Amino acid sequence: MKYCMQCGSEYQDGVVRCADCPDSALVDAETMSQRHIPLPGESDTRKFARVATAEDQFTAEDYVRLLELKSIPVFAQPRRAGVVDVLTTGALESWWDIMVGEEHLAQAAQLIAQEQQQLESTSAEAARAAEEEELETESAVPPGGP
Ligand SMILES: [Zn+2]
Repeated sequence: MKYCMQCGSEYQDGVVRCADCPDSALVDAETMSQRHIPLPGESDTRKFARVATAEDQFTAEDYVRLLELKSIPVFAQPRRAGVVDVLTTGALESWWDIMVGEEHLAQAAQLIAQEQQQLESTSAEAARAAEEEELETESAVPPGGP
């Protein structure tokens, strides 16, 4: 078997040119693996594992961006708990599975744990700041009356 280096199509040994990519050379499977080009079907068997779940799309996107920055193969897979009318409730009863290449699972889990800690401390700070602002507003009211 021979394979097109450009699109990955599989050809009989007698074929010299890819039907779709006339400029691309056909090579054997060994050359393909040396060049780290996945063979047909091979990219589908790559193993991904769930590293975390996100409760909303923004968190999911945040995690994906975070892991992409570290060159970790990652995607977010939406999962619906049930059929929900988005138009009337405005809410999606769904969550996202954050999937990463299995070999990066430990590193990805660590990065997400760090990110979660950071998010928690940020929201705690925001809550504290809001409380302080409230107190200031109350004390700004002049005491007594006319
Ligand atoms: Zn081709």
